[in-house]
Amino acid sequence: MKPRHVLFALAALGVASISHAAVSPVLVIHGGAGVIKRDMTPAREKAVRAAMTRALQDGHARLEAGKSALDAVTAALTVLEDDPNFNAGKGAVFTHDGRNELDAAIMDGYTLRAGAVAGVRRIKNPIVLARAVMDRTPHVMLSGDGAEAFAQSIGMRLVDPSYFRTGERWQQLQKALQEDAAKQPHADVETARHFGTVGAVALDAQGHLAAGTSTGGMTDKRWGRIGDSPLIGAGTYANSGCAVSGTGWGEFYIRTVAAHEICMKVTQMRVPLKRAAAEVINQEIPAMGGNGGAIALDADGHISIPFNTDGMYRGWIGGDGVPHVALYGDEDDGTAELPQPAPAESIAQP
Ligand code: ASP
Repeated sequence: MKPRHVLFALAALGVASISHAAVSPVLVIHGGAGVIKRDMTPAREKAVRAAMTRALQDGHARLEAGKSALDAVTAALTVLEDDPNFNAGKGAVFTHDGRNELDAAIMDGYTLRAGAVAGVRRIKNPIVLARAVMDRTPHVMLSGDGAEAFAQSIGMRLVDPSYFRTGERWQQLQKALQEDAAKQPHADVETARHFGTVGAVALDAQGHLAAGTSTGGMTDKRWGRIGDSPLIGAGTYANSGCAVSGTGWGEFYIRTVAAHEICMKVTQMRVPLKRAAAEVINQEIPAMGGNGGAIALDADGHISIPFNTDGMYRGWIGGDGVPHVALYGDEDDGTAELPQPAPAESIAQP
Protein backbone atom coordinates (compact mmCIF):
# COMPACT_ATOMS: atom_id res chain seq x y z
CA MET A 1 0.00 0.00 0.00
CA LYS A 2 1.30 3.49 -0.87
CA PRO A 3 1.91 5.78 2.14
CA ARG A 4 -0.97 8.05 1.05
CA HIS A 5 -3.31 5.06 1.02
CA VAL A 6 -2.13 4.08 4.49
CA LEU A 7 -3.08 7.58 5.67
CA PHE A 8 -6.53 7.30 4.09
CA ALA A 9 -7.01 3.92 5.73
CA LEU A 10 -5.93 5.31 9.10
CA ALA A 11 -8.23 8.31 8.63
CA ALA A 12 -11.11 5.96 7.97
CA LEU A 13 -10.29 4.22 11.23
CA GLY A 14 -10.24 7.60 12.97
CA VAL A 15 -6.59 7.40 13.88
CA ALA A 16 -5.10 9.74 11.27
CA SER A 17 -4.27 12.06 14.12
CA ILE A 18 -1.23 9.90 14.82
CA SER A 19 0.45 11.50 11.80
CA HIS A 20 -0.73 15.01 12.72
CA ALA A 21 -0.78 15.02 16.50
CA ALA A 22 -3.17 17.69 17.73
CA VAL A 23 -0.57 19.97 19.23
CA SER A 24 -1.48 23.41 20.44
CA PRO A 25 1.15 25.80 19.02
CA VAL A 26 3.26 27.82 21.42
CA LEU A 27 5.69 30.70 20.87
CA VAL A 28 8.05 32.08 23.53
CA ILE A 29 10.29 35.11 23.03
CA HIS A 30 12.90 37.10 24.91
CA GLY A 31 14.38 40.54 24.47
CA GLY A 32 17.40 40.10 26.69
CA ALA A 33 18.24 39.74 30.37
CA GLY A 34 20.03 42.20 32.64
CA VAL A 35 19.44 45.04 35.04
CA ILE A 36 15.85 45.99 34.30
CA LYS A 37 14.53 48.43 36.87
CA ARG A 38 11.31 50.36 37.10
CA ASP A 39 13.12 53.54 36.08
CA MET A 40 12.40 53.16 32.38
CA THR A 41 10.38 56.04 30.94
CA PRO A 42 6.72 55.13 30.50
CA ALA A 43 7.09 55.77 26.76
CA ARG A 44 9.97 53.33 26.49
CA GLU A 45 8.23 50.67 28.55
CA LYS A 46 5.16 51.03 26.36
CA ALA A 47 7.26 50.73 23.19
CA VAL A 48 9.06 47.62 24.46
CA ARG A 49 5.82 45.92 25.49
CA ALA A 50 4.19 46.85 22.17
CA ALA A 51 7.09 45.40 20.17
CA MET A 52 7.10 42.19 22.22
CA THR A 53 3.34 41.86 21.76
CA ARG A 54 3.61 42.45 18.02
CA ALA A 55 6.38 39.84 17.75
CA LEU A 56 4.22 37.30 19.59
CA GLN A 57 1.19 38.05 17.43
CA ASP A 58 3.11 37.92 14.15
CA GLY A 59 4.72 34.61 15.05
CA HIS A 60 1.50 33.16 16.43
CA ALA A 61 -0.41 34.12 13.27
CA ARG A 62 2.05 31.99 11.31
CA LEU A 63 1.49 29.04 13.64
CA GLU A 64 -2.29 29.44 13.46
CA ALA A 65 -2.05 29.44 9.67
CA GLY A 66 -0.33 26.05 9.86
CA LYS A 67 3.15 27.41 9.15
CA SER A 68 6.23 25.89 10.73
CA ALA A 69 7.90 26.69 14.03
CA LEU A 70 10.81 28.00 11.93
CA ASP A 71 8.49 30.49 10.22
CA ALA A 72 7.12 31.66 13.56
CA VAL A 73 10.62 32.14 15.00
CA THR A 74 11.77 34.03 11.89
CA ALA A 75 8.68 36.28 11.91
CA ALA A 76 8.90 37.11 15.63
CA LEU A 77 12.62 37.88 15.50
CA THR A 78 12.25 40.06 12.41
CA VAL A 79 9.84 42.30 14.34
CA LEU A 80 12.31 42.64 17.22
CA GLU A 81 15.31 43.19 14.91
CA ASP A 82 13.44 46.09 13.26
CA ASP A 83 12.68 47.72 16.62
CA PRO A 84 15.44 50.02 17.98
CA ASN A 85 14.69 49.10 21.61
CA PHE A 86 16.51 45.79 21.29
CA ASN A 87 20.14 44.84 20.79
CA ALA A 88 19.58 43.16 17.44
CA GLY A 89 19.27 44.61 13.96
CA LYS A 90 18.50 48.33 14.32
CA GLY A 91 19.58 49.43 17.79
CA ALA A 92 22.42 46.91 18.08
CA VAL A 93 25.26 47.75 20.45
CA PHE A 94 28.60 49.11 19.20
CA THR A 95 31.96 47.40 19.06
CA HIS A 96 35.08 49.00 20.55
CA ASP A 97 35.79 50.41 17.07
CA GLY A 98 32.36 52.04 16.82
CA ARG A 99 30.77 49.56 14.45
CA ASN A 100 27.72 47.29 14.62
CA GLU A 101 28.56 43.62 14.05
CA LEU A 102 25.57 41.33 14.15
CA ASP A 103 25.22 37.62 14.95
CA ALA A 104 22.19 35.32 14.51
CA ALA A 105 21.28 31.64 14.35
CA ILE A 106 18.25 29.47 13.73
CA MET A 107 17.74 25.73 14.23
CA ASP A 108 15.05 23.30 13.15
CA GLY A 109 14.51 20.73 15.90
CA TYR A 110 12.76 18.29 13.58
CA THR A 111 15.58 17.89 11.05
CA LEU A 112 18.47 19.27 13.15
CA ARG A 113 19.29 21.61 10.27
CA ALA A 114 20.76 24.94 11.32
CA GLY A 115 21.97 28.23 9.88
CA ALA A 116 23.97 31.08 11.38
CA VAL A 117 25.73 34.32 10.53
CA ALA A 118 28.40 36.13 12.54
CA GLY A 119 29.93 39.57 12.36
CA VAL A 120 27.72 40.93 9.57
CA ARG A 121 27.57 44.72 9.17
CA ARG A 122 25.11 45.41 6.37
CA ILE A 123 22.32 42.85 6.83
CA LYS A 124 19.05 44.44 7.97
CA ASN A 125 17.61 41.16 9.30
CA PRO A 126 20.39 38.74 10.28
CA ILE A 127 17.84 36.07 11.29
CA VAL A 128 16.53 35.99 7.72
CA LEU A 129 20.06 35.51 6.41
CA ALA A 130 20.71 32.76 8.99
CA ARG A 131 17.59 31.03 7.71
CA ALA A 132 18.85 31.36 4.13
CA VAL A 133 22.20 29.84 5.15
CA MET A 134 20.25 26.86 6.49
CA ASP A 135 17.87 26.57 3.54
CA ARG A 136 20.15 27.49 0.65
CA THR A 137 23.73 26.49 1.40
CA PRO A 138 25.49 23.29 2.45
CA HIS A 139 27.01 25.22 5.37
CA VAL A 140 25.86 26.07 8.88
CA MET A 141 27.68 29.33 9.64
CA LEU A 142 28.90 32.15 7.41
CA SER A 143 30.77 35.18 8.69
CA GLY A 144 31.59 38.79 7.78
CA ASP A 145 32.15 39.71 4.13
CA GLY A 146 31.48 36.17 2.92
CA ALA A 147 28.06 36.12 4.57
CA GLU A 148 27.24 39.45 2.94
CA ALA A 149 28.44 38.21 -0.46
CA PHE A 150 26.10 35.23 -0.06
CA ALA A 151 23.25 37.59 0.87
CA GLN A 152 23.82 39.58 -2.32
CA SER A 153 24.02 36.41 -4.38
CA ILE A 154 20.47 35.52 -3.34
CA GLY A 155 19.16 39.01 -4.03
CA MET A 156 19.13 40.40 -0.50
CA ARG A 157 19.60 44.13 -0.40
CA LEU A 158 22.39 45.35 1.87
CA VAL A 159 21.80 48.38 4.09
CA ASP A 160 24.28 51.13 4.89
CA PRO A 161 25.96 50.38 8.26
CA SER A 162 24.53 53.67 9.60
CA TYR A 163 21.06 52.06 9.54
CA PHE A 164 21.80 50.22 12.81
CA ARG A 165 23.02 53.24 14.75
CA THR A 166 21.04 54.73 17.65
CA GLY A 167 22.21 57.57 19.90
CA GLU A 168 21.58 55.59 23.05
CA ARG A 169 23.81 52.69 22.02
CA TRP A 170 26.50 55.17 20.96
CA GLN A 171 26.41 56.75 24.42
CA GLN A 172 26.70 53.30 26.01
CA LEU A 173 29.89 52.75 24.04
CA GLN A 174 31.31 56.15 25.03
CA LYS A 175 30.69 55.33 28.69
CA ALA A 176 32.30 51.92 28.31
CA LEU A 177 35.34 53.45 26.58
CA GLN A 178 35.78 55.99 29.37
CA GLU A 179 35.61 53.25 31.94
CA ASP A 180 38.02 51.12 29.93
CA ALA A 181 40.45 54.05 29.96
CA ALA A 182 39.99 54.51 33.71
CA LYS A 183 40.14 50.73 34.17
CA GLN A 184 37.13 51.05 36.45
CA PRO A 185 34.21 49.07 35.14
CA HIS A 186 31.02 50.82 36.11
CA ALA A 187 28.20 48.56 37.23
CA ASP A 188 25.58 50.09 34.94
CA VAL A 189 27.68 49.80 31.82
CA GLU A 190 28.97 46.41 32.76
CA THR A 191 25.45 45.08 32.85
CA ALA A 192 24.37 47.10 29.82
CA ARG A 193 27.07 45.22 27.95
CA HIS A 194 25.01 42.12 27.89
CA PHE A 195 21.47 43.27 27.47
CA GLY A 196 18.88 43.34 24.68
CA THR A 197 19.53 40.27 22.58
CA VAL A 198 16.37 38.77 21.09
CA GLY A 199 15.36 35.11 20.87
CA ALA A 200 12.39 32.89 20.08
CA VAL A 201 11.41 29.25 20.46
CA ALA A 202 8.27 27.76 18.94
CA LEU A 203 6.24 24.56 18.77
CA ASP A 204 4.07 24.20 15.67
CA ALA A 205 0.90 22.24 15.03
CA GLN A 206 2.98 19.36 13.65
CA GLY A 207 4.71 19.06 17.01
CA HIS A 208 8.00 20.39 15.62
CA LEU A 209 10.24 22.74 17.56
CA ALA A 210 12.58 25.52 16.42
CA ALA A 211 14.86 28.06 18.10
CA GLY A 212 16.45 31.32 16.96
CA THR A 213 18.54 34.13 18.44
CA SER A 214 19.77 37.48 17.07
CA THR A 215 22.10 40.02 18.67
CA GLY A 216 24.56 42.85 18.31
CA GLY A 217 26.63 41.06 20.99
CA MET A 218 28.20 43.03 23.81
CA THR A 219 29.03 46.76 23.89
CA ASP A 220 32.75 47.45 23.42
CA LYS A 221 33.46 43.96 22.04
CA ARG A 222 36.81 43.72 20.26
CA TRP A 223 38.78 41.84 17.67
CA GLY A 224 35.89 40.25 15.85
CA ARG A 225 34.47 38.78 19.06
CA ILE A 226 31.58 36.39 18.46
CA GLY A 227 29.25 35.44 21.29
CA ASP A 228 27.06 32.48 22.04
CA SER A 229 23.98 33.57 20.09
CA PRO A 230 25.06 32.32 16.63
CA LEU A 231 26.83 29.24 18.00
CA ILE A 232 24.63 26.20 17.68
CA GLY A 233 24.51 24.54 21.08
CA ALA A 234 25.68 27.58 23.07
CA GLY A 235 23.03 30.29 22.64
CA THR A 236 20.69 28.50 20.26
CA TYR A 237 19.63 24.86 20.03
CA ALA A 238 16.60 22.74 19.14
CA ASN A 239 15.96 19.04 18.71
CA SER A 240 12.81 16.95 18.56
CA GLY A 241 12.08 17.37 22.28
CA CYS A 242 13.47 20.72 23.31
CA ALA A 243 14.23 24.23 22.01
CA VAL A 244 16.30 26.91 23.77
CA SER A 245 17.45 30.48 23.12
CA GLY A 246 19.77 32.08 25.64
CA THR A 247 20.71 35.62 26.53
CA GLY A 248 23.43 36.83 28.81
CA TRP A 249 27.18 36.95 29.10
CA GLY A 250 27.95 34.90 26.02
CA GLU A 251 31.35 33.58 27.00
CA PHE A 252 29.76 31.57 29.81
CA TYR A 253 27.03 30.21 27.55
CA ILE A 254 29.74 29.04 25.16
CA ARG A 255 31.77 27.37 27.88
CA THR A 256 28.75 25.55 29.32
CA VAL A 257 27.30 24.87 25.83
CA ALA A 258 24.21 26.09 27.62
CA ALA A 259 21.37 25.55 25.14
CA HIS A 260 22.55 22.06 24.20
CA GLU A 261 23.16 21.22 27.85
CA ILE A 262 19.56 22.07 28.74
CA CYS A 263 18.20 20.06 25.82
CA MET A 264 20.37 17.02 26.56
CA LYS A 265 19.11 16.97 30.12
CA VAL A 266 15.55 17.02 28.77
CA THR A 267 15.79 14.57 25.90
CA GLN A 268 18.55 12.23 27.04
CA MET A 269 18.31 12.32 30.81
CA ARG A 270 14.54 12.89 30.96
CA VAL A 271 14.90 15.78 33.38
CA PRO A 272 11.73 17.94 33.34
CA LEU A 273 12.27 21.11 31.30
CA LYS A 274 11.97 23.52 34.19
CA ARG A 275 14.54 21.74 36.31
CA ALA A 276 16.91 21.24 33.37
CA ALA A 277 16.81 24.93 32.45
CA ALA A 278 17.18 26.04 36.08
CA GLU A 279 20.20 23.78 36.64
CA VAL A 280 22.07 25.44 33.79
CA ILE A 281 20.88 29.05 34.12
CA ASN A 282 20.55 29.35 37.89
CA GLN A 283 23.36 27.00 38.96
CA GLU A 284 26.03 26.17 36.37
CA ILE A 285 26.40 29.62 34.77
CA PRO A 286 26.40 31.70 37.99
CA ALA A 287 28.78 29.20 39.61
CA MET A 288 31.29 30.11 36.88
CA GLY A 289 30.70 33.85 37.30
CA GLY A 290 28.34 34.38 34.37
CA ASN A 291 24.81 35.70 34.25
CA GLY A 292 21.76 35.82 32.00
CA GLY A 293 18.62 33.87 31.19
CA ALA A 294 16.98 31.60 28.63
CA ILE A 295 13.66 30.64 27.14
CA ALA A 296 13.02 26.90 26.83
CA LEU A 297 10.16 24.90 25.36
CA ASP A 298 9.58 21.15 25.17
CA ALA A 299 7.60 19.05 22.70
CA ASP A 300 4.58 18.96 25.04
CA GLY A 301 4.45 22.75 25.07
CA HIS A 302 5.88 23.21 28.56
CA ILE A 303 7.57 26.59 28.95
CA SER A 304 10.45 27.58 31.19
CA ILE A 305 11.96 31.08 31.45
CA PRO A 306 14.74 31.08 34.07
CA PHE A 307 17.06 34.06 34.62
CA ASN A 308 19.58 34.97 37.28
CA THR A 309 19.54 38.72 36.52
CA ASP A 310 17.30 41.49 37.90
CA GLY A 311 14.90 41.07 35.02
CA MET A 312 14.39 39.76 31.54
CA TYR A 313 12.20 40.93 28.67
CA ARG A 314 10.07 37.85 28.04
CA GLY A 315 6.76 36.81 26.54
CA TRP A 316 4.74 33.84 25.35
CA ILE A 317 1.57 33.02 23.50
CA GLY A 318 -0.30 29.72 23.49
CA GLY A 319 -3.38 28.11 22.00
CA ASP A 320 -5.77 30.85 23.16
CA GLY A 321 -3.81 33.50 21.26
CA VAL A 322 -3.45 35.78 24.28
CA PRO A 323 0.01 37.42 24.39
CA HIS A 324 1.76 37.55 27.79
CA VAL A 325 4.64 39.99 28.25
CA ALA A 326 6.74 40.71 31.35
CA LEU A 327 9.90 42.77 31.83
CA TYR A 328 10.74 42.96 35.52
CA GLY A 329 12.05 40.20 37.73
CA ASP A 330 9.15 40.40 40.18
CA GLU A 331 6.52 40.68 37.45
CA ASP A 332 4.26 37.67 36.96
CA ASP A 333 4.81 36.33 33.44
CA GLY A 334 2.04 33.76 33.84
CA THR A 335 4.29 30.73 33.35
CA ALA A 336 4.18 29.64 37.00
CA GLU A 337 0.53 28.65 36.61
CA LEU A 338 1.14 26.61 33.46
CA PRO A 339 1.20 22.82 33.77
CA GLN A 340 4.64 21.25 34.05
CA PRO A 341 5.64 17.60 33.80
CA ALA A 342 5.41 15.73 37.09
CA PRO A 343 8.68 15.67 39.05
CA ALA A 344 8.43 11.88 38.99
CA GLU A 345 9.73 12.03 35.40
CA SER A 346 13.09 13.22 36.66
CA ILE A 347 15.96 10.80 36.90
CA ALA A 348 16.47 9.02 40.19
CA GLN A 349 19.21 10.46 42.34
CA PRO A 350 21.99 7.99 43.11
N1 ASP B 1 24.61 36.57 24.64
C1 ASP B 1 24.91 37.76 23.87
C2 ASP B 1 26.38 37.76 23.55
O1 ASP B 1 27.16 37.44 24.42
C3 ASP B 1 24.54 39.02 24.55
C4 ASP B 1 23.20 39.04 25.23
O2 ASP B 1 22.49 38.06 25.26
O3 ASP B 1 22.82 40.11 25.76
O4 ASP B 1 26.75 38.13 22.48
